Amino acid sequence: MPSLPLFPATIAGSLPKPAWLAEPEKLWAPWRQQGADLIAAKQDAALVWLKVQEDAGIDIVSEGEQFRIHFVHGFLEHIGGIDWARKTKMGIRNNRYTVEVPTVTAKLTRPRSIHGDEARFSRAHTKNRLKFTLPGPMTICDTIADAHYGRRADMAMAFAGLLTAEALELQAQGVDVIQFDEPAFNVFMDDVKDWGIAALERAARGLTCKTAVHICYGYGIEANIKWKDTLGSEWRQYEEIFPALNASRINQVSLECAGSRVPISLIAHLKDKEILVGAIDVASEKVETAEDVAGTIREALKFADSERIQPCTNCGMAPLPRAVAEGKLRALGAGASLMRAQIGRG
Ligand code: ZN
Repeated sequence: MPSLPLFPATIAGSLPKPAWLAEPEKLWAPWRQQGADLIAAKQDAALVWLKVQEDAGIDIVSEGEQFRIHFVHGFLEHIGGIDWARKTKMGIRNNRYTVEVPTVTAKLTRPRSIHGDEARFSRAHTKNRLKFTLPGPMTICDTIADAHYGRRADMAMAFAGLLTAEALELQAQGVDVIQFDEPAFNVFMDDVKDWGIAALERAARGLTCKTAVHICYGYGIEANIKWKDTLGSEWRQYEEIFPALNASRINQVSLECAGSRVPISLIAHLKDKEILVGAIDVASEKVETAEDVAGTIREALKFADSERIQPCTNCGMAPLPRAVAEGKLRALGAGASLMRAQIGRG
Protein backbone atom coordinates (compact mmCIF):
# COMPACT_ATOMS: atom_id res chain seq x y z
CA MET A 1 0.00 0.00 0.00
CA PRO A 2 1.45 3.42 -0.96
CA SER A 3 2.33 5.76 1.88
CA LEU A 4 -0.08 8.63 2.38
CA PRO A 5 0.86 11.99 0.87
CA LEU A 6 0.67 15.25 2.73
CA PHE A 7 -2.98 16.37 2.88
CA PRO A 8 -4.48 12.95 2.10
CA ALA A 9 -8.01 13.44 0.80
CA THR A 10 -10.91 11.42 2.17
CA ILE A 11 -14.70 11.58 2.45
CA ALA A 12 -16.98 11.81 5.48
CA GLY A 13 -19.33 9.03 4.47
CA SER A 14 -22.18 8.44 2.08
CA LEU A 15 -22.32 8.94 -1.68
CA PRO A 16 -25.44 9.06 -3.90
CA LYS A 17 -27.03 5.78 -4.91
CA PRO A 18 -26.99 5.21 -8.69
CA ALA A 19 -30.45 5.16 -10.28
CA TRP A 20 -30.37 1.38 -10.80
CA LEU A 21 -30.01 0.86 -7.05
CA ALA A 22 -32.42 3.37 -5.48
CA GLU A 23 -34.32 6.52 -6.38
CA PRO A 24 -31.72 9.32 -6.63
CA GLU A 25 -31.63 12.52 -4.56
CA LYS A 26 -33.72 11.09 -1.78
CA LEU A 27 -32.86 10.07 1.78
CA TRP A 28 -34.39 6.73 2.80
CA ALA A 29 -35.09 5.81 -0.86
CA PRO A 30 -36.19 2.15 -1.03
CA TRP A 31 -34.15 -0.36 -3.06
CA ARG A 32 -35.09 -0.90 -6.70
CA GLN A 33 -33.91 -4.55 -6.75
CA GLN A 34 -34.46 -7.64 -4.64
CA GLY A 35 -32.58 -10.75 -3.59
CA ALA A 36 -29.49 -11.64 -5.62
CA ASP A 37 -30.13 -8.74 -8.02
CA LEU A 38 -30.03 -6.33 -5.08
CA ILE A 39 -26.72 -7.71 -3.83
CA ALA A 40 -25.22 -7.41 -7.31
CA ALA A 41 -26.59 -3.88 -7.74
CA LYS A 42 -25.11 -2.74 -4.43
CA GLN A 43 -21.74 -4.24 -5.32
CA ASP A 44 -21.82 -2.58 -8.76
CA ALA A 45 -22.57 0.76 -7.11
CA ALA A 46 -19.70 0.31 -4.66
CA LEU A 47 -17.34 -0.52 -7.53
CA VAL A 48 -18.34 2.62 -9.40
CA TRP A 49 -17.70 4.84 -6.42
CA LEU A 50 -14.39 3.23 -5.49
CA LYS A 51 -13.22 3.90 -9.06
CA VAL A 52 -14.59 7.45 -9.14
CA GLN A 53 -12.84 8.25 -5.86
CA GLU A 54 -9.54 6.77 -7.05
CA ASP A 55 -9.75 8.73 -10.31
CA ALA A 56 -10.52 11.91 -8.36
CA GLY A 57 -7.38 11.52 -6.27
CA ILE A 58 -9.12 10.57 -3.03
CA ASP A 59 -6.48 8.78 -0.96
CA ILE A 60 -8.67 7.17 1.70
CA VAL A 61 -11.79 5.83 -0.02
CA SER A 62 -15.03 4.19 1.13
CA GLU A 63 -17.88 2.21 -0.42
CA GLY A 64 -20.01 5.31 0.04
CA GLU A 65 -22.59 3.44 2.14
CA GLN A 66 -24.03 1.84 -1.02
CA PHE A 67 -25.06 -1.27 0.93
CA ARG A 68 -27.38 0.51 3.39
CA ILE A 69 -30.45 2.72 3.14
CA HIS A 70 -29.58 4.71 6.26
CA PHE A 71 -26.38 4.88 8.30
CA VAL A 72 -28.03 4.06 11.63
CA HIS A 73 -30.71 1.62 10.56
CA GLY A 74 -28.32 -0.29 8.30
CA PHE A 75 -26.60 -1.34 11.51
CA LEU A 76 -29.67 -1.70 13.72
CA GLU A 77 -31.68 -3.96 11.44
CA HIS A 78 -29.39 -6.89 12.30
CA ILE A 79 -29.27 -6.29 16.05
CA GLY A 80 -31.27 -8.50 18.44
CA GLY A 81 -33.31 -7.01 21.30
CA ILE A 82 -35.14 -4.45 19.15
CA ASP A 83 -38.89 -4.68 18.59
CA TRP A 84 -39.43 -3.08 15.18
CA ALA A 85 -43.22 -3.35 15.45
CA ARG A 86 -43.31 -1.49 18.76
CA LYS A 87 -43.03 2.10 17.62
CA THR A 88 -42.44 4.87 20.12
CA LYS A 89 -42.93 8.53 19.28
CA MET A 90 -39.68 10.29 20.11
CA GLY A 91 -38.20 13.76 19.72
CA ILE A 92 -34.92 13.37 17.85
CA ARG A 93 -31.86 15.58 18.41
CA ASN A 94 -33.43 17.27 21.42
CA ASN A 95 -36.88 17.52 19.75
CA ARG A 96 -35.65 19.05 16.51
CA TYR A 97 -38.05 16.62 14.86
CA THR A 98 -40.41 13.92 16.06
CA VAL A 99 -40.51 10.48 14.51
CA GLU A 100 -41.81 7.02 15.35
CA VAL A 101 -38.86 4.85 16.21
CA PRO A 102 -38.45 1.16 17.05
CA THR A 103 -38.03 0.18 20.68
CA VAL A 104 -35.35 -1.74 22.57
CA THR A 105 -37.25 -4.33 24.62
CA ALA A 106 -34.55 -6.85 25.62
CA LYS A 107 -30.81 -7.20 26.04
CA LEU A 108 -29.08 -6.10 22.83
CA THR A 109 -27.20 -8.74 20.86
CA ARG A 110 -25.28 -8.98 17.59
CA PRO A 111 -26.00 -12.49 16.31
CA ARG A 112 -23.70 -12.14 13.31
CA SER A 113 -21.45 -9.85 11.34
CA ILE A 114 -23.29 -6.88 9.84
CA HIS A 115 -20.98 -5.13 7.39
CA GLY A 116 -18.23 -7.76 7.14
CA ASP A 117 -19.06 -8.91 3.59
CA GLU A 118 -19.24 -5.31 2.41
CA ALA A 119 -15.81 -4.55 3.85
CA ARG A 120 -14.33 -7.71 2.31
CA PHE A 121 -15.79 -6.83 -1.08
CA SER A 122 -14.53 -3.24 -0.91
CA ARG A 123 -11.08 -4.32 0.27
CA ALA A 124 -10.76 -6.68 -2.68
CA HIS A 125 -11.45 -3.90 -5.17
CA THR A 126 -9.21 -1.01 -4.18
CA LYS A 127 -5.55 -0.68 -3.33
CA ASN A 128 -6.14 2.66 -1.64
CA ARG A 129 -6.59 2.95 2.07
CA LEU A 130 -10.15 2.03 2.98
CA LYS A 131 -12.47 3.72 5.43
CA PHE A 132 -15.66 2.23 6.84
CA THR A 133 -18.30 4.19 8.75
CA LEU A 134 -20.47 3.03 11.64
CA PRO A 135 -23.05 4.96 13.67
CA GLY A 136 -21.77 6.15 17.05
CA PRO A 137 -23.42 4.89 20.24
CA MET A 138 -24.90 8.25 21.26
CA THR A 139 -26.43 8.84 17.85
CA ILE A 140 -27.88 5.32 17.82
CA CYS A 141 -29.51 5.99 21.19
CA ASP A 142 -31.01 9.18 19.81
CA THR A 143 -32.64 7.15 17.03
CA ILE A 144 -34.28 4.37 19.02
CA ALA A 145 -36.48 4.20 22.13
CA ASP A 146 -35.52 2.37 25.31
CA ALA A 147 -37.91 0.13 27.24
CA HIS A 148 -35.23 -2.11 28.72
CA TYR A 149 -32.08 -0.38 29.98
CA GLY A 150 -33.63 2.54 31.85
CA ARG A 151 -30.72 4.92 31.38
CA ARG A 152 -29.61 6.17 27.99
CA ALA A 153 -25.98 5.90 29.06
CA ASP A 154 -26.44 2.20 29.85
CA MET A 155 -28.09 1.51 26.50
CA ALA A 156 -25.26 3.42 24.78
CA MET A 157 -22.65 1.23 26.48
CA ALA A 158 -24.53 -1.88 25.38
CA PHE A 159 -24.53 -0.65 21.78
CA ALA A 160 -20.86 0.33 22.14
CA GLY A 161 -19.97 -3.25 23.04
CA LEU A 162 -21.67 -4.51 19.87
CA LEU A 163 -19.95 -1.82 17.80
CA THR A 164 -16.58 -2.98 19.16
CA ALA A 165 -17.21 -6.52 17.95
CA GLU A 166 -18.29 -5.25 14.53
CA ALA A 167 -15.37 -2.82 14.24
CA LEU A 168 -12.82 -5.50 15.14
CA GLU A 169 -14.24 -7.67 12.40
CA LEU A 170 -14.03 -4.83 9.85
CA GLN A 171 -10.45 -4.22 10.89
CA ALA A 172 -9.68 -7.91 10.35
CA GLN A 173 -11.06 -7.54 6.80
CA GLY A 174 -8.38 -4.94 6.10
CA VAL A 175 -10.21 -1.70 6.80
CA ASP A 176 -7.68 1.06 7.56
CA VAL A 177 -9.93 3.68 9.15
CA ILE A 178 -13.09 3.06 11.17
CA GLN A 179 -15.19 6.15 11.62
CA PHE A 180 -18.05 6.51 14.08
CA ASP A 181 -20.68 9.07 13.09
CA GLU A 182 -21.91 11.19 15.99
CA PRO A 183 -24.14 14.00 14.70
CA ALA A 184 -25.73 13.97 18.18
CA PHE A 185 -22.48 15.31 19.66
CA ASN A 186 -23.37 18.98 19.15
CA VAL A 187 -26.83 18.63 20.68
CA PHE A 188 -26.38 16.98 24.07
CA MET A 189 -23.31 18.79 25.30
CA ASP A 190 -23.45 17.59 28.91
CA ASP A 191 -24.19 14.00 27.93
CA VAL A 192 -21.24 14.03 25.53
CA LYS A 193 -18.92 14.84 28.41
CA ASP A 194 -20.71 12.59 30.92
CA TRP A 195 -20.88 9.41 28.84
CA GLY A 196 -20.88 10.11 25.07
CA ILE A 197 -17.11 10.12 24.66
CA ALA A 198 -16.73 7.17 27.05
CA ALA A 199 -19.20 5.18 24.93
CA LEU A 200 -17.32 6.19 21.78
CA GLU A 201 -14.03 5.00 23.27
CA ARG A 202 -15.74 1.77 24.32
CA ALA A 203 -16.86 1.28 20.70
CA ALA A 204 -13.27 1.75 19.49
CA ARG A 205 -11.70 -0.43 22.20
CA GLY A 206 -8.97 -2.74 20.97
CA LEU A 207 -8.78 -1.25 17.47
CA THR A 208 -5.26 -0.79 16.09
CA CYS A 209 -6.38 0.81 12.80
CA LYS A 210 -7.07 4.53 12.68
CA THR A 211 -10.23 5.57 14.49
CA ALA A 212 -12.28 8.64 13.62
CA VAL A 213 -15.38 10.42 14.81
CA HIS A 214 -17.52 12.49 12.45
CA ILE A 215 -19.47 15.24 14.15
CA CYS A 216 -21.81 17.48 12.24
CA TYR A 217 -24.86 19.68 12.03
CA GLY A 218 -26.71 17.33 9.71
CA TYR A 219 -27.79 17.14 6.08
CA GLY A 220 -29.41 20.15 4.48
CA ILE A 221 -32.94 18.93 5.25
CA GLU A 222 -35.57 21.44 6.34
CA ALA A 223 -35.67 20.58 10.07
CA ASN A 224 -31.91 21.01 10.23
CA ILE A 225 -31.91 24.29 8.32
CA LYS A 226 -34.53 25.71 10.71
CA TRP A 227 -32.52 24.52 13.72
CA LYS A 228 -29.33 26.02 12.34
CA ASP A 229 -31.12 29.40 12.08
CA THR A 230 -31.55 29.35 15.87
CA LEU A 231 -27.87 28.82 16.59
CA GLY A 232 -26.67 32.33 15.90
CA SER A 233 -23.99 33.63 13.56
CA GLU A 234 -21.20 31.56 15.05
CA TRP A 235 -21.59 27.91 16.01
CA ARG A 236 -19.36 27.51 19.04
CA GLN A 237 -20.96 24.32 20.46
CA TYR A 238 -17.76 22.40 19.81
CA GLU A 239 -15.77 24.64 22.10
CA GLU A 240 -17.41 22.77 24.98
CA ILE A 241 -16.61 19.26 23.82
CA PHE A 242 -13.32 19.58 21.90
CA PRO A 243 -11.08 19.54 25.00
CA ALA A 244 -12.71 16.26 26.10
CA LEU A 245 -12.54 14.88 22.57
CA ASN A 246 -8.88 15.87 22.34
CA ALA A 247 -8.20 13.93 25.53
CA SER A 248 -9.91 10.80 24.12
CA ARG A 249 -8.18 7.89 22.41
CA ILE A 250 -9.91 8.53 19.06
CA ASN A 251 -7.29 9.46 16.42
CA GLN A 252 -9.24 11.69 14.04
CA VAL A 253 -12.07 14.23 14.16
CA SER A 254 -14.13 15.01 11.03
CA LEU A 255 -16.03 18.29 10.99
CA GLU A 256 -17.62 20.73 8.56
CA CYS A 257 -15.56 23.79 7.65
CA ALA A 258 -16.82 24.75 4.16
CA GLY A 259 -19.61 27.33 4.11
CA SER A 260 -20.16 26.62 7.79
CA ARG A 261 -20.69 28.89 10.74
CA VAL A 262 -18.38 26.74 12.83
CA PRO A 263 -15.39 29.05 13.50
CA ILE A 264 -12.40 27.15 12.13
CA SER A 265 -10.29 28.49 14.98
CA LEU A 266 -12.01 25.90 17.20
CA ILE A 267 -9.77 23.18 15.74
CA ALA A 268 -6.99 24.67 17.85
CA HIS A 269 -8.61 22.73 20.72
CA LEU A 270 -7.83 19.46 18.90
CA LYS A 271 -4.06 19.77 18.98
CA ASP A 272 -3.44 16.03 19.45
CA LYS A 273 -5.83 14.85 16.71
CA GLU A 274 -5.74 14.45 12.97
CA ILE A 275 -8.42 16.73 11.61
CA LEU A 276 -10.64 15.86 8.66
CA VAL A 277 -11.32 19.37 7.46
CA GLY A 278 -14.66 19.52 5.64
CA ALA A 279 -13.83 21.50 2.52
CA ILE A 280 -16.85 20.43 0.45
CA ASP A 281 -20.27 21.89 1.30
CA VAL A 282 -22.81 19.07 1.00
CA ALA A 283 -25.81 21.38 1.51
CA SER A 284 -25.16 23.11 -1.82
CA GLU A 285 -25.23 21.75 -5.36
CA LYS A 286 -22.64 24.29 -6.43
CA VAL A 287 -19.46 22.38 -7.20
CA GLU A 288 -16.41 23.85 -5.50
CA THR A 289 -13.23 24.65 -7.39
CA ALA A 290 -9.87 23.21 -6.38
CA GLU A 291 -8.99 26.72 -5.23
CA ASP A 292 -12.09 26.83 -2.97
CA VAL A 293 -10.94 23.60 -1.33
CA ALA A 294 -7.37 24.88 -1.00
CA GLY A 295 -8.69 28.09 0.56
CA THR A 296 -10.47 26.15 3.31
CA ILE A 297 -7.35 24.07 3.96
CA ARG A 298 -5.25 27.25 4.16
CA GLU A 299 -7.63 28.60 6.82
CA ALA A 300 -7.28 25.36 8.79
CA LEU A 301 -3.49 25.62 8.54
CA LYS A 302 -3.64 28.73 10.70
CA PHE A 303 -4.79 26.56 13.61
CA ALA A 304 -3.31 23.08 12.94
CA ASP A 305 -0.08 21.88 11.35
CA SER A 306 -0.11 20.39 7.87
CA GLU A 307 0.72 16.83 9.00
CA ARG A 308 -2.57 16.64 10.91
CA ILE A 309 -4.89 17.90 8.16
CA GLN A 310 -6.90 15.70 5.81
CA PRO A 311 -9.13 17.46 3.25
CA CYS A 312 -12.61 15.93 3.49
CA THR A 313 -16.28 16.53 2.72
CA ASN A 314 -18.42 18.31 5.32
CA CYS A 315 -20.74 15.32 5.63
CA GLY A 316 -22.23 12.54 3.52
CA MET A 317 -23.28 13.37 -0.05
CA ALA A 318 -26.13 10.83 -0.36
CA PRO A 319 -28.89 13.35 -1.21
CA LEU A 320 -26.94 15.11 -3.99
CA PRO A 321 -27.30 14.43 -7.74
CA ARG A 322 -24.65 11.93 -8.77
CA ALA A 323 -22.88 14.27 -11.21
CA VAL A 324 -22.63 16.95 -8.52
CA ALA A 325 -21.09 14.49 -6.06
CA GLU A 326 -18.61 13.36 -8.72
CA GLY A 327 -17.66 16.97 -9.41
CA LYS A 328 -17.20 17.65 -5.71
CA LEU A 329 -14.95 14.59 -5.34
CA ARG A 330 -12.78 15.84 -8.21
CA ALA A 331 -12.57 19.29 -6.63
CA LEU A 332 -11.58 17.73 -3.31
CA GLY A 333 -8.81 15.66 -4.87
CA ALA A 334 -7.58 18.57 -6.98
CA GLY A 335 -7.64 20.94 -4.00
CA ALA A 336 -5.55 18.55 -1.93
CA SER A 337 -3.10 18.22 -4.80
CA LEU A 338 -2.91 22.00 -5.16
CA MET A 339 -2.04 22.36 -1.50
CA ARG A 340 0.64 19.68 -1.78
CA ALA A 341 2.22 21.57 -4.66
CA GLN A 342 2.07 24.84 -2.79
CA ILE A 343 3.56 23.47 0.42
CA GLY A 344 6.23 21.90 -1.78
CA ARG A 345 5.99 18.25 -0.87
CA GLY A 346 4.26 15.11 -2.00
ZN1 ZN B 1 -22.45 14.53 8.90
